[in-house]
Amino acid sequence: MLKIENLHAEVATADGPKPILNGLTLEVAAGEIHAIMGPNGAGKSTLAHTLGGRPGYEITEGSVTFDGQDLLELEPHERAAAGLFLGFQYPVEIPGVSNVQFLREAANAQRKVRGQDPLSGGEFLKLAKEKAALLRMDMDMLKRPVNVGFSGGEKKRNEMVQMGILDPKFAILDETDSGLDIDALRIVGDGINAIMRSPDKAVLLITHYQRLLDYVKPDKVHILAGGRIVKTGGPELAHQLEEEGYEAVA
Ligand code: ADP
Ligand code: MG
Ligand code: MG
Repeated sequence: MLKIENLHAEVATADGPKPILNGLTLEVAAGEIHAIMGPNGAGKSTLAHTLGGRPGYEITEGSVTFDGQDLLELEPHERAAAGLFLGFQYPVEIPGVSNVQFLREAANAQRKVRGQDPLSGGEFLKLAKEKAALLRMDMDMLKRPVNVGFSGGEKKRNEMVQMGILDPKFAILDETDSGLDIDALRIVGDGINAIMRSPDKAVLLITHYQRLLDYVKPDKVHILAGGRIVKTGGPELAHQLEEEGYEAVA
């Protein structure tokens, strides 16, 4: 479903372009969940931003194929419409726009590109209620401005509600577990499984800690260091990292 080959990318900085990804190769098949772990500054978020098409990130070499199409040719909104979802390490706040408005706009914009009719208010609310319940989110929270005044955990759960509504084929989740307490971690983990565990979907889960992987069992675990994948294994690799640290394992 996602095939990244020899990806080199640099980020624009005040001092000029800085190379971050350095020959990254990775393939995720439909039905699989892969975890990416790695030390601070390894390039994990850069990988997520690059795949999302964020401005300021330039690909200097390599290719990315998503569902048979050249992902790098697509604009960010076209990537989303093609079924790519990005969950961010730091979800943005949007004062003045309610969650319900935001989610309905997003869902209908995507349906339009897919050639589907927009959801009516009633249809949308039914869908939103269903996904909110999955993440144990109160409907009152969906009426509040997007993420404004939400705790770290609430922002992450809100993002998973958004993922449930958009129903992507492929999700890249960047440290979705950061800042979650134990109960929220389980709720978010269960949410990821409920929304994304499917033979025709796949997930790239970027995480620092093995504990999320107790709830969302990865098929493969990769270590990203110095801008490339340096080691790949099964779930046991995450346990080994937790015990021995990156320096010993990678
Ligand atoms: P990770 O998510 O693995 O912790 P990042 O992808 O965020 O790492 O960052 C990789 C490296 O790129 C780090 O050294 C970081 O400081 C640097 N970097 C990322 N974005 C920028 C930027 N906009 N300006 C300067 N350096 C950056
Ligand atoms: Mg980091
Ligand atoms: Mg990061």
